[in-house]
Amino acid sequence: MQRIHPREWLRYGSLADLFTARNHSPDFNGARAERIALRIEVLSLVAGLLTLAWIPLDLLFLAEPGRTGIVSLRVGAGLAFLLLAGWRHRRHDLFRARLRLALFILIPAAFYVGARLVLAADDSDTGIVVGYYFLPYLMVTILAIFPLTLVEGIAGVAAVGATLALAEVEAGAITELTTLAEFWLLALLAAIVVWVQQSQLYMLLRLYREATRDALTGLFNRRALLAEMERARLDCRRTGEPLSVLLFDLDLFKRINDTHGHLTGDAVLADFAGVLRGVCQRECLLSRYGGEEFLVALPGRDAGAARVLAETIRAETRGREVRAEDGTPVSYTVSVGVAQGGEEEAVGALLSRVDQALYQAKEGGRDLVAEATVDG
Ligand code: GH3
Ligand code: MG
Ligand code: MG
Repeated sequence: MQRIHPREWLRYGSLADLFTARNHSPDFNGARAERIALRIEVLSLVAGLLTLAWIPLDLLFLAEPGRTGIVSLRVGAGLAFLLLAGWRHRRHDLFRARLRLALFILIPAAFYVGARLVLAADDSDTGIVVGYYFLPYLMVTILAIFPLTLVEGIAGVAAVGATLALAEVEAGAITELTTLAEFWLLALLAAIVVWVQQSQLYMLLRLYREATRDALTGLFNRRALLAEMERARLDCRRTGEPLSVLLFDLDLFKRINDTHGHLTGDAVLADFAGVLRGVCQRECLLSRYGGEEFLVALPGRDAGAARVLAETIRAETRGREVRAEDGTPVSYTVSVGVAQGGEEEAVGALLSRVDQALYQAKEGGRDLVAEATVDG
C-alpha cells in the first residue's frame, strides 16, 4: 500500500488512522501527545496523593509482616506517581507521551504485584485486603480516557492483563477457575475501554482536521499555520537556523471567477495547492492564508534558498492549465513575496514585511518574485 504523505493525510482520513499512528501528521501527533501527557499529569498527581493518603488506614488495619511491606510499596508508588506528574518537557511528542503512558501503567502494576506478594503471607483476611484485588480493573478502566490508536490501546490493556497473570502465577492460582473468571471480566472491560479509546481518537481526528485544515485544499488554515510558525520560529532561534516565508497571491483571480465561474476558481485554487505540494519538501509549512493567498513557511532556509523555491513555484504555476466547466483551458499566474525572519523579529513583523514584498511584485507587473527589505 502506498503511504499517504503526512500533509495529505488530513484530506483522506481512513479507518487505518484509527489502527496506528503511521499516517498521522506530525502536528496532530504533537496535539495528541499533549492531550495524553496532560491527562497523565493530572491523574498521576491524584493517584500519587491518594496512594499516600491511604497509608494511615493500612497502618491501622493491616498486621505485620504485611504492614511494613505495603506501606513501603505505597511510599514508592506514591512518590513515583508524583514524579511522573511533575515530569515536564518543552515540546510534546508521541514517543514521550507513550513513555509516560507506559510508566503510568507500570507504577500501579508493580504496586499490585508487590502488594499481592506481601498480602499472600497475610491471612488476617480483613476487608481492606479485598480492595487490592480491584486494582487491575481500575487500571484498565482508567485507560478509557486516552485517545489511543487500536495498537496502543491493545498494548495498554495487554500490559494490565500480563500484570494480573504475573500476580496469579506468583500466587500459584493461574490454573484456578476463579482466575479464569477474573480474566474474563478483565477482557470484557478491556474491549469496552478500547472501543471508547477509538471513539475518542475518531472525534479528535475529525475535530482537529476541521479546526486546522482548509477544506478546499487540505493545507493548513491561517490559524494552524500561525501556531506552527510560532513553534518553528522558536526552534529556529534555538538552533540558530534561518526561517523564511513566501507569500503567494494568485494574479487577477477575480477575473478568473468572473469569466469562468466560481467552481473553476476553486479548481484553480486546488491546482495551485497541488503545485505547492509537488514542489515543496516535507519540512515546509504550507497554508491557505486567505481567499487566493497562500503562505509557506520554510524553517532552515535563508532568503536566497527561499527565493529559488519561490522562483521554481512561480515558473511551474505559469505552465499550469485547469479545465473550466465548459472545457476551456484556463491558465493562471502567481506573484510571490519572499522574506527571511530577523533573529529577534516577531511573526507579525515578518508577515508585514513579506506582505510589502508581495505588493511590490504586484506593482512590478505580477507573475514576479520580490524580496523584502532586510529586517531592521
Ligand atoms: P491581484 O492580481 O491584484 O491579486 O487581483 P485579484 O483579482 O486576484 O485580487 P482581488 O483581491 O481583487 O480578488 C480576489 C478574489 O478571490 C475575489 C474573491 O471573490 C476570490 N476568492 C476568494 N476566495 C475564493 C474561493 O474560495 N473560491 C473562489 N472561487 N474565489 C475566491
Ligand atoms: Mg489577494
Ligand atoms: Mg490576487
